[in-house]
Amino acid sequence: MQLAQSLQAIKPSYIREILSVANSADVISLAGGLPDGDHFPLALMEQSIQRLSSRAELFQYGSTAGYGPLLDYFRECYQLPKEQDALVCTGSQQGLDLIARVFLDAGDKVVMEAPSYLGALQVFGLAQASIESIQQRADGPDLQELEQCFANKTIKMFYAVPDFHNPTGVCWSLEVRQKVAQLCQQYNVALIEDAPYRELRFSGTELPLVSSFCPEHSIVLRSYSKIATPGIRLGLVSGPKAWVSALERVKQGADLHSSQPMQAVLLDLLQHDDFPNHLNNLRELYRKRCQYLANQLIEKLPNNCQFEQVEGGMFIWLQLPDCDVDSLAKQMLNVGVAVVPSSVFYQSTAGKQSAFRLNFTNACDSDLALAVERLAQVLEAVK
Ligand code: PMP
Repeated sequence: MQLAQSLQAIKPSYIREILSVANSADVISLAGGLPDGDHFPLALMEQSIQRLSSRAELFQYGSTAGYGPLLDYFRECYQLPKEQDALVCTGSQQGLDLIARVFLDAGDKVVMEAPSYLGALQVFGLAQASIESIQQRADGPDLQELEQCFANKTIKMFYAVPDFHNPTGVCWSLEVRQKVAQLCQQYNVALIEDAPYRELRFSGTELPLVSSFCPEHSIVLRSYSKIATPGIRLGLVSGPKAWVSALERVKQGADLHSSQPMQAVLLDLLQHDDFPNHLNNLRELYRKRCQYLANQLIEKLPNNCQFEQVEGGMFIWLQLPDCDVDSLAKQMLNVGVAVVPSSVFYQSTAGKQSAFRLNFTNACDSDLALAVERLAQVLEAVK
């Protein structure tokens, strides 16, 4: 059977290909966006999971919007105003997919910072949206470029990851947040604020969500993959009631609802007395690993390899001298290190930087050190 036209334009995910090799025992992987499995809060979830077998009602069909007590908790915890609703989804990735299906017609224009989250590029590509790339600076999108784009084109939505961007780790400044919110209001552009790394801040001060400055123009996507576990596949979409209600209608057709037993377990976890401790420990672990990787890069790599310090998230964006990053990433695999080349994060060739995305959350210090040593050797050999 012939593939749908929308699928023919989609390239197979290079990250998935790398990840299939990266899983082998003799490869050190800095490629995936994986949280550290040894620090999953399973002990805090244990009682809740054991109790599930006596809670038959959770195994019945449930409501599409989500498990009631969990939704109540979210409404309180995120202080959702009465004009807003929330929808539990099967990972925030499903939220993104629903947004594309509900709001985008083929050819609609979606603005993204370049480089961009690969999963969003895939979703918008499948929806046959037209992607407008805006360059990213150290404190967020280039505001002049953004305003020109909003002013001169009919933009439907701006998809953004303001807290510890994937792949660059960039965190928007307060000024950029306020200005973007103002532009979204002025030009009637919906902001899709994707915030899966927001809780993973390990230094600096927390900044308000961009959407807090333009709530009637925004949808927020939250994920429990990084602070609980990815395997439970739970995320949350919140925004103006009419928008969330449309998302709910499409979710009905997609999967009826997300797993209720897992939603109950997540609620117990989030309310567990030791959960704040778990989060603090996780942040501290990731802060140390990030610092360790940064020190290794400074110590072992030549000066023409640069990176910005990050204050949270999971990635360091290592900028390289102009080169064929795909072939360099393959050479790295040949010496047993998996990294993701920058090429996969760009929609077009314009403004492409040569860089590697390095994940620091799922490798121990000795592996991080060895990986950077091998990177230094490969870079030396291609000089
Ligand atoms: N958005 C971004 C920016 C991500 O990096 C990811 C996962 N890596 C997701 C969304 C999807 O997360 P989830 O596991 O909640 O589906």
